[in-house]
Amino acid sequence: MFEKTINQTCDMLNVHNDLTKFGHLIIKGVSIDTRKIEKGNLFVPFKGENVDGHQFVRQAIEKGAAAALWDKHVPNPPEDIPVLVVDDPLLALQSLANQYRHQLDLKVVGITGSNGKTTTKDMVANLLATKYKVHKTQGNYNNHIGLPLTILALPQDAEVAVLEMGMSGFGEIELLSEISQPDAAIITNIGESHLQDLGSREGITKAKLEIVQGLKEDGLFAYYGDEHLLEEQVKELSLKRVKTFGRSETNTIYPLGIEMNNAGSYFETSLDKGVTFFLPVLGQHNIHNALAAILIAKEFGVSVEEMKEGLESLKLTQMRMEMTEGQKGEKIINDAYNASPTSMKAAIQLVSELEGFTAKMLVLGDMLELGDNEEEFHLEIGRMIDPDQIQHVYTFGKLAEFIAKGALERFSPENVHSFQDKKELSAELENQTKDGDLILFKASRGMALEEIIEALAKG
Ligand code: ATP
Ligand code: MG
Repeated sequence: MFEKTINQTCDMLNVHNDLTKFGHLIIKGVSIDTRKIEKGNLFVPFKGENVDGHQFVRQAIEKGAAAALWDKHVPNPPEDIPVLVVDDPLLALQSLANQYRHQLDLKVVGITGSNGKTTTKDMVANLLATKYKVHKTQGNYNNHIGLPLTILALPQDAEVAVLEMGMSGFGEIELLSEISQPDAAIITNIGESHLQDLGSREGITKAKLEIVQGLKEDGLFAYYGDEHLLEEQVKELSLKRVKTFGRSETNTIYPLGIEMNNAGSYFETSLDKGVTFFLPVLGQHNIHNALAAILIAKEFGVSVEEMKEGLESLKLTQMRMEMTEGQKGEKIINDAYNASPTSMKAAIQLVSELEGFTAKMLVLGDMLELGDNEEEFHLEIGRMIDPDQIQHVYTFGKLAEFIAKGALERFSPENVHSFQDKKELSAELENQTKDGDLILFKASRGMALEEIIEALAKG
């Protein structure tokens, strides 16, 4: 992690207030949360809407922080504890991360996209870890604060950092890319998340493409080639090295001979014909994510054998197409971590393709933050559900009622059920499900569908 003397840190941040009276302090790591302060940390206070972090500066030092930043606009910086007075603590944090990134002898892989960032990040990290010392974004540390913190936590001997870059508006990915200066960048796909803020899918595409702003000149840019909006906009950029992944044979890498079962998928790729990869996670979209990871692994000189090993040993972060079992032996796919129209369609498609179950059911909740056309997006999901493949559709939430409405265009009414109360839905599912059934749970994070899964697991 970041480790410097206080003088070095002051130089990096252009801080001029005199801290010599505090002696020879060493800064080790950076923290923004007094509950997680570790000895030697630099504490960074932010002014939130309700709370001003500056009021915790003294407490941070008492808990072991070596020093703290202090916004010059906040009056009366304390003189009896080591504070570094800066123009803006957030900018200071980002600048420190950027400088630390340049001081480390390591390569950075940056990943953005509407869906599949975390999954692809985990895949890339797993493949590269067969050969390198890899550090990756933890949890949801993928924004203007989380990404700098991730960089500042990089071990000095890390060889590769795999960084997830999230956004909700224009300019955010550019900032993250400029801070982290990727040697390789990926756009996993373009969906509809954040339509509210970005206006159109073209807008979303443009915002994601900001990832090339900080990309090294000879760095590799890999994107989902089946998305024509990406293809169109990438043409306008003068990028040196571009590769694509996806289903279509026009891509640099595409899958061949896909075979799926309930444990995952087997496939070959156009770049290594005759070699069969096994991916222990479900879904066509995950094959695309894996292809992206393979492109990057190749860029880093990982052998085919190492890649096979890296994919087979994959463990994805919780609640992403996680297979569990209910009390009665029914199989549950927990994809309740998040949902957008693209990822919801992908998950439904996947369940439609799975075989060997008595009945297949969908439990779908609201997809939030979709903007003006939210009802239409939900209707569309309902309309795509195939009654030959899916036996029951359960919806939860006001918007999800439109999924039910869309489904009713093809389903008979006794197979479509709308709920507004989680307890009632839980009880109904407990009644209806049997050993041998398969149930997919998917909704936006805010709907907390996992509460129903927990209930089913306990019985
Ligand atoms: P977040 O914005 O919440 O960080 P994320 O981009 O990190 O999301 P993941 O957590 O990897 O995305 O995956 C979320 C869901 O998106 C998955 O459970 C899956 O249903 C779907 N998904 C994953 N990869 C893709 C893809 N390439 N295309 C479409 N949908 C995908
Ligand atoms: Mg994520």
